[in-house]
Amino acid sequence: MKVLVATEKPFAAAAVDGIKKEIEGAGNELVLLEKYTEKAQLLDAVKDVDAMIIRSDKADAEVLDAAKNLKIIVRAGAGYDNIDLAAATAHNVVAENTPGQNSNAVAELVFGLLVFTVRNFYNGKAGSELKGKKLGILAFGNVGRNVARIAKGFGMEVAAYDAFCPADVIEAAGVHAVKSQDELFQTCDIVSLHIPATPETIKSIDYKTVNQLPKGGILINTARKEVINEPELLKLLAEREDLKFITDIKPDADADFAKFEGRYFSTPKKMGAQTAEANINAGIAAAKQINAFFADGCTKYQVNK
Ligand code: NAD
Repeated sequence: MKVLVATEKPFAAAAVDGIKKEIEGAGNELVLLEKYTEKAQLLDAVKDVDAMIIRSDKADAEVLDAAKNLKIIVRAGAGYDNIDLAAATAHNVVAENTPGQNSNAVAELVFGLLVFTVRNFYNGKAGSELKGKKLGILAFGNVGRNVARIAKGFGMEVAAYDAFCPADVIEAAGVHAVKSQDELFQTCDIVSLHIPATPETIKSIDYKTVNQLPKGGILINTARKEVINEPELLKLLAEREDLKFITDIKPDADADFAKFEGRYFSTPKKMGAQTAEANINAGIAAAKQINAFFADGCTKYQVNK
């Protein structure tokens, strides 16, 4: 089987080596399309492949139409909103992600950003500590669970809310399960977002929600920019000088947020999964999932069931 790795932003070299070893070791052929600049290059590369691995690359209906032999597409990473799932299903293509492979990397970044924030972006003035503060984790998935684990090491109080994960699972991890998203915002000093972008969550982090944070509250987003209602959050930051907004995903209105100097920070580009370990883990997991699919039809991580 011919397996294409199509990455506008390439994997680390060690990840490509690992993917190659996995794919070729299972008797499949690997084709690489890295740093492509035109969609036409991608449309040409997908023409005769049986499987493909992508990162943040867009697999829209046009790409899926062009990939006549495609049977499986794997997004090396957690979020899969860059794959047109309806088009994949219509073409009988299995779409998968590689959950959990970069969640520790994202969770560690949360704390890098939080220490930077409570120490006033290292501006020389005395800041505060995370120990004893209450951290609210919105969504107790792979990233949220790693955030909880690390938060305990900092001596933080930890609470979480997840619309689908049962409270006893959250409590079993030594985390206080609150009953609603509102309760999380009302009772925590810092709220860290780990929800996916879904019709329910898009723009759900709005004025009313964030305004429930106590004085000096911090909102940190390492999930997806789409979950933030940007105009409403801008309005709130203008009204409440005590609030801070920290993000790993540059908002569309970055220039407007940047006016809140000392209370807003965005990583220059999404850094959450940018570690050698996450890169290698996700890429190799994608290769293994493709091999398992061709070997015995395994679709354990299918997201378009
Ligand atoms: P996951 O699928 O493991 O967990 C998501 C959790 O969200 C699940 O537990 C689910 O029950 C919960 N959930 C879904 N809808 C909800 C809702 N309406 N309210 C409350 N909870 C809800 O995903 P993950 O690997 O933990 O990733 C979380 C987010 O982080 C995703 O948006 C992902 O795209 C993003 N992410 C960002 C980076 C980065 O580079 N910054 C890297 C990896 C993942």
